[in-house]
Order: sequence, then C-alpha cells, then structure tokens
Amino acid sequence: MAIIGLVGLGLIGGSLGLDFRSSGHRVLGVSRQQSTCERALVKGVVDKASQDLALLKNCEVVFICTPIPLVLPTLEKLQKVLSPQTIITDVASVKGPIVSAATAQWPRFVGGHPMAGTAHQGVEAAEAGLFHHRPYALTPLATTDTQALDTVHQLVLGLGSKLVVFSPEVHDQLVAQVSHLPVMVSAALLLSVGDIEKAQQLAGPGFQDTSRVGGGNPDLGLAMAQHNRTAILESLKQFRAALDHLEEQIQQQNWVGLQAQLESSRQIRTGFFPS
Ligand code: NAP
Repeated sequence: MAIIGLVGLGLIGGSLGLDFRSSGHRVLGVSRQQSTCERALVKGVVDKASQDLALLKNCEVVFICTPIPLVLPTLEKLQKVLSPQTIITDVASVKGPIVSAATAQWPRFVGGHPMAGTAHQGVEAAEAGLFHHRPYALTPLATTDTQALDTVHQLVLGLGSKLVVFSPEVHDQLVAQVSHLPVMVSAALLLSVGDIEKAQQLAGPGFQDTSRVGGGNPDLGLAMAQHNRTAILESLKQFRAALDHLEEQIQQQNWVGLQAQLESSRQIRTGFFPS
C-alpha cells in the first residue's frame, strides 16, 4: 500500500481520495482553503489535510487535481518539497500543454486524465466509485519513466478504471470530439431554448441527458476551450458540417437521406455504448 498525495480536494481529488483510502492506501491532501481541508477530513476523503504542500514530502505518488491553469505552477512548488523519487501525475482534461513541460521539470511525471465527472464541483461533490468502469487515459511520452508509468497504471487499475494510453496530442484531439465538443454543443442547446419557462414544464429525460454536460462547471468548460482551442475549433467545424447536412435533408424533405443518417448515428452510438 502506498502513501498517496492529492493537491486539490474537489470533485476529482476528493473522489480519488475516497477510493484510494477504501483500497487501503494512506491519503494526504492539500487544498487551497482551510475549510475544504476540514470538510475533506469529515467526509473521509483524506487521512490528513493541510494548506501546506510540505505535508506531502513523504508521498510516493502525488496527484495534482487542481484546475488546469494551476497544474504547472503547482508542480513547480512541489519540486521544492518532494524527493526526486516521488512520482507526480495530474488529472487535467487537456494534456498537450502540460505533459512535455511537466516532464522537462520532473522526470518522474506521468500525464493522466480520468474520463469521469458530474455536473457538480468541490469536495462535497466527491463520490466513491466515480472512476469505476470509466476510461482513464495515461499520456506518456517516449521519455516517460517506465517504472513511474507502471506505478500510476497499477493505481488506475485499482480504481476499477479502464486504462487507455495515447500520446498527449492524440488524447487532446479525441477528447475534443468526445468531451469538449459535447460541452459546447450541450451549452448551445441550453442557450438556444426560446421560452425557457414554458420549455421547463415539458422537458423530460431526453433533454436532461443532452443538456447535462452543458450545465456543468463553467470554469472547467472555459479552461477546456482556452487550453485545447485548436482541437475544439476543428471539432466544431466538423460538427457544423454534420448539422448543416441534417438541416439540408430536412429542408429538402429528403426523408430517405435523413433516415439513413439517423440509422448511421444509431449504429455509431451502439459502437460507443454497446448495451
Ligand atoms: P473542482 O471540484 O472545482 O476542484 C478543484 C479543487 O482545486 C478545489 O477544491 C480547490 O480547492 C482546489 N484548488 C484550487 N486552487 C488550488 C491551489 N492553488 N492549491 C491547491 N488546491 C487548489 O474541480 P474538479 O472538477 O475536481 O477539476 C479538477 C481537475 O480535474 C481539473 O484539472 C479538470 O480538468 C480535471 N477533470 C475534471 C473532470 C470533471 O468532470 N469535473 C473530469 C476529469 C478531469 P479549495 O476548495 O480549497 O479552493
């Protein structure tokens, strides 16, 4: 069993803490606010918590679970307190701007991204089992320390996640299509409702499903757009072309063509989520 450090005790850091502790690891947590540290202790997310990164000095592995713009600044601060043997990993939703820079600063860095979340944020939103059966991407470089990669890999498997490995660049392109674009499309869906009060009376589970990610943490959506801008713009372009095509078929009353498109979309979804 390992001593695991978490920096950032919000939805993701808190959920990791709950699962690592229930697997028998010792979990030490650092967060920005004292009140978050206290709530994390009460919720059982960590064994000990502090606002001071020095708490993590004996950890074998440290997960940086802060908002995206704070990952590299946090790594820089951690360098002053950790032994060079410590493995550092992160959970940020964008990898390209982080992994090369972090590896250059800390040779035992491994980029990671759990593909799980809810519409909520903060330590109160932490959930046991959040990562179970969900993909968890690791994004090593050719130069990534193999022992560090293997250790993070084992911890990810211990969460019950499905490990996937991609380069940071491929990760960012794929995540733009299956995670960041859906946030923007879902937000557009919400923003395009005309009479919100009347529509609220009628909306059912379909709208609940399709609007979920657009109604999530605005700071996270903003950070995705700022840090994965090129890939999101490319995905939006492809989405707009697909939407235009559907619109054209409806305008032309090309019901045969529209049905074929909807058959294709159904088949594609079954490939993503078979049951
Ligand atoms: P969150 O619930 O808002 O939690 C972020 C936490 O970071 C907060 O609890 C905050 O602590 C802490 N924090 C902020 N600045 C800090 C600092 N300087 N030092 C230490 N802690 C600091 O956000 P989240 O959803 O867990 O997201 C965290 C990371 O996970 C992001 O990089 C995001 O890209 C990634 N991620 C998110 C999701 C998702 O769906 N939400 C999914 C996968 C990956 P205080 O409460 O003490 O202020």
